[in-house]
Amino acid sequence: MIRFYNTLHRKSEEFTPIMPGEVKMYTCGPTVYNFAHIGNLRAYMFEDLLRRFLTFEKISVTQVMNITDIDDKTIRRSMESGETLEVFTQRYTNSFYDDLDTLNIQRAHHYPKATEFISHMIEVIQTLVDKGFAYRVEDGSVFFKVSSFAEYGKLANLNPDQMRIGTRVVNDEYEKEEARDFALWKGKKEGEGDIHWDSPWGKGRPGWHIECSVMAMHYLGAHFDIHCGGVDNIFPHHENEIAQSQAATGEPFVNYWLHNEHLLVDGEKMSKSANNFYTLRDLLDKGFSPEAIRYTLISTHYRQKLNFTFEKIKVSQKAINRLRELKRRLESVKSTTGETELLKTDDMLKKFIEFLSDDLNISGALGALFTWVNGIFAALDVNRISAESAKKALNALTKIDEVLGVLDLQGNEDSSEIDALIQQRTQARKDKNWALADEIRNKLQSMNIIIEDTPDGTIWKKGS
Ligand code: AMP
Ligand code: ZN
Repeated sequence: MIRFYNTLHRKSEEFTPIMPGEVKMYTCGPTVYNFAHIGNLRAYMFEDLLRRFLTFEKISVTQVMNITDIDDKTIRRSMESGETLEVFTQRYTNSFYDDLDTLNIQRAHHYPKATEFISHMIEVIQTLVDKGFAYRVEDGSVFFKVSSFAEYGKLANLNPDQMRIGTRVVNDEYEKEEARDFALWKGKKEGEGDIHWDSPWGKGRPGWHIECSVMAMHYLGAHFDIHCGGVDNIFPHHENEIAQSQAATGEPFVNYWLHNEHLLVDGEKMSKSANNFYTLRDLLDKGFSPEAIRYTLISTHYRQKLNFTFEKIKVSQKAINRLRELKRRLESVKSTTGETELLKTDDMLKKFIEFLSDDLNISGALGALFTWVNGIFAALDVNRISAESAKKALNALTKIDEVLGVLDLQGNEDSSEIDALIQQRTQARKDKNWALADEIRNKLQSMNIIIEDTPDGTIWKKGS
């Protein structure tokens, strides 16, 4: 049984997909006016963990992520840059895809761009106007009438007294205290160049919130399983998505709302506006590996705040090195004797799955993994592992890495040179060429590689 914390009901709930064995999920994507910072990447990493775990549990997942290439910010910044909106946003869209690949984040099945869905948005807005949920104002904008939708405020737990009935908010982002009628369509304004489309209400462009509703329903249907985003998306973005979608279709919209907590720097949310952010490139330039960054971003539970430090990435690298060292050592076990049950591999796998089934409890899952890892190292040190149980343990590691996605991420580690040097040294020792063997050992040492000769051959690990 899988459980998730559902923001809509503020409690952990058993997860039941609408269609057994299939999950449809929508994950709010980047606003492409700048390079993603690692706070944004934490959100995509949580969604990757969620998707990989569901797939691991043999559930087929369809994931959609939007590219917001038209909103207040993309318009302002593209105009400042002097480039067209298209050229400007394409650059950051490309870099977003590069970041996903670098971090081994599985690609969503669809990445719709908002600008490609304007006609669909106009249709949905028209439906809302026809049904009396939306109204046009003088400047050609269309607003959603919050008072017409009885369930407004349920997701963000708004107090009805907080809502300023009959007043309007034009910006896409605002605080709970500013809960009012919000813009579905924004009439053309001076100073926004020629970034506008024709509509039944005059020239203009969509508001941010309607973009996600329309693209989600286009690919996943009016009613689907999971919708994700960072906690900052709960209000107003997701609250507004629910109102627009349900009002337009008359059906429920999403069953499970999952939100990740923020990545913090010195106790403050990492954000472009606070100018306290690192991009992925910044961290790679400092010499950190993609797999260590990936591990850092997923190894704290998604609903806990994660205070970002370089120290955390270093600790992550050590954890990955240990898993890789274990893999190499298990691969070199040749003994036919040894205690097969000793390793408790099945037990570890069961616990790993049980923890993740409980609202993606990654700390518990990693705890079970490393208890098992430590037990195997201890058994390897006294040669109590048979080749058969080593193979079983290796299979388990491979399975686990379907979820973690760190072991084969060769961002910076190519072991072929190390393997070749070790082979040369083994040959030198056979030839009793001790001077050459020592020279190779020293060379490896200078590469921060420590070697050890065991009855099964030479093993290596990275120095700390
Ligand atoms: P944006 O490009 O600003 O629309 O954000 C893309 C995604 O990143 C959204 O799901 C946000 O909620 C999420 N996000 C933004 N800042 C952070 C942060 N510091 N920590 C975690 N997630 C964030
Ligand atoms: Zn969205």
